[in-house]
Amino acid sequence: MYYINGEWYESDQKEQVKNPATLEVIDTISLCGKEETKQAIEAAKEAFQTWGKTTGNERSAYLFEVVRLMKERIEELAQIITLENGKPLPDAKREVLGAISYLDWYAEEAKRIYGDVLPSSHKDKQLMVIRQPVGVCGAITPWNFPLSMITRKIAPALAAGCTVVLKPALETPLSAIKVFECFHEAKVPKGVVNLVIGPAEEIGKELTSSPDVRKLTFTGSTAIGKKLMRDSADTMKKVSMELGGHAPYIVFEDADLDLAVEGVLLSKFKNSGQTCISTNRVYVQESIADEFAQKLAEQASKLKIGDGLEKGTDVGPLINEKSLEKMKSQVEDAVKHDAKVVHGGNVYKYEKGNGYFFEPTVLLHATDDMQIATEETFGPIAPVFTFKDEDEVVERANHKTYGLAAYCYTKNLGRGMRMMKELEFGIIGINDPAPIVIQAPFGGIKESGMGKEGGKYGLEEYLEEKFVSIYEN
Ligand code: ADP
Repeated sequence: MYYINGEWYESDQKEQVKNPATLEVIDTISLCGKEETKQAIEAAKEAFQTWGKTTGNERSAYLFEVVRLMKERIEELAQIITLENGKPLPDAKREVLGAISYLDWYAEEAKRIYGDVLPSSHKDKQLMVIRQPVGVCGAITPWNFPLSMITRKIAPALAAGCTVVLKPALETPLSAIKVFECFHEAKVPKGVVNLVIGPAEEIGKELTSSPDVRKLTFTGSTAIGKKLMRDSADTMKKVSMELGGHAPYIVFEDADLDLAVEGVLLSKFKNSGQTCISTNRVYVQESIADEFAQKLAEQASKLKIGDGLEKGTDVGPLINEKSLEKMKSQVEDAVKHDAKVVHGGNVYKYEKGNGYFFEPTVLLHATDDMQIATEETFGPIAPVFTFKDEDEVVERANHKTYGLAAYCYTKNLGRGMRMMKELEFGIIGINDPAPIVIQAPFGGIKESGMGKEGGKYGLEEYLEEKFVSIYEN
C-alpha cells in the first residue's frame, strides 16, 4: 500500500515483509516507483499552496488529533515494530511513546513560530525577518526506529507548514503504513503527507532531482547520505542528514564502575546495538580494565536473547543477514589481532526460528588497528580498549570521520567539563548512557551529518528566513 494525495493504492508489484527473529512472512505489501513518486511530489506541491498558509493553530490541531489516534493504538503499533524490526516489545512500546512525543511537542511548537523586528539603521526603514515553511520535503527513514524516525521528521515539517513525501525503509514499511493511517483518520488535508514504498534508488533519484522538492531529510548510512547530498546539489535543496556514528564510551578510574557497566549494557545491547548513537568503542583506564571487562561480561551473560514478542527478551535479532556477516567478520578480525573474547562472539542459534541472532559480545585487548576501531558495528559487540591518561584517550576517542555521540564516565566534575569541550561529537553523555530527549538537538558533526532533529532546533530545519525592508516614504 502506498498513499498519495489522500488515497491508498495497491499495485501488482509485491514485496514480502519478514520477521527477522523467525524469517516468517508477516505481510505482503504493494510497491510503487518513479511515476508514483512524481505524483506524490505533485500532490505535495499542490497541497503546500494551502497548507503553507494555514495558521499554526490549525496545524497544531491536526497534529494533536494524530497524537490522540496514535495513543489509542500504542499496543498495536508496538507489536508491528517488534514483528518487523525484532526489538523487544517493551522497547518497541517505548519507541511508540517517543514517536508520539515528537508529534505532541511539534503540535505545541506549531503555534510558536516567531519572526523578528530588527533595530533599524535608517530612521525611515522598518526591518523585519519573517519565517516561512521551506516547501515540499522529501523524507527518507531507516529501519532501526521505524516509527519514531518518521514522526521526528514529519511532525516538525507539518508544524512549520511544509508538506511531505516519505520513503521508509523496505525492511520496515508496516509501521509507516500504520502511522499514515492515523494521518488519514485525522483528516490531514490531502497531499500534505504522502507515502511511497519501493526501490530506494529509483524513488531517491526522483526526490533528489525534482526542483519542486525544496528539502531532503535523511536518516541512514553515511555512504547513502553523501550520495543523496550530492544528488541534491543540482537543485540546491536544504538538507538534513542524520548519518552513521562511532561512539566512544570512556570510563575513567574515578568512575562509578557499576554505573558505567550498566551504561554499556544499555548503550551497546539495546536494540541489539543497532542505534546510531550506540557505543562502538569502550575505552577503560588501564588500572580498572580487567575488572570492568569481567563485570561487563558477567552482566552481558544475563541478557536473554530471543524473539522480541517473548516475555523477558533483552536482545532481539539483527535486521538481516548482511548485519550478521558483519558481526562475524568484526569478531574474526579482532581475534586475529589478539583480542580476547570474554563473552559471546558467535552467531546465536535460536531454537524457535531461523532469525539473525548474534550473541552479546565482550572483547578485551581491543586495539586501534582492528576493523571495529574505525568501522561502524551496528550490532551487539563491545570491544574494550585501554588507555593511560586523559590526553591520550581524547585523541584516540575523536574519530577521523564520525562525530555523532560520545560518552564519558567520571566523578570528577572538572574532567567532565573538559571532556564536554574536547570530544568532537554532536551529543555528549556524561555519566549518562541515553543522552536523548525530545527538547534537545539530536545530530552529528563531521561525516555523521548536518542539521538537528528535536526541540526548537528541529523546527528551524523546515523554515526559511526572509528579510523584509520597508521604506516609509
Ligand atoms: P542501512 O545500511 O542501515 O539500511 P541505508 O542508508 O542503506 O542504511 O538505508 C537508510 C534508508 O535509505 C532506507 O530507507 C533505504 O531504503 C534508503 N536508501 C538506501 N539506498 C538509497 C538510495 N540510493 N537512494 C535513496 N534512498 C536510499
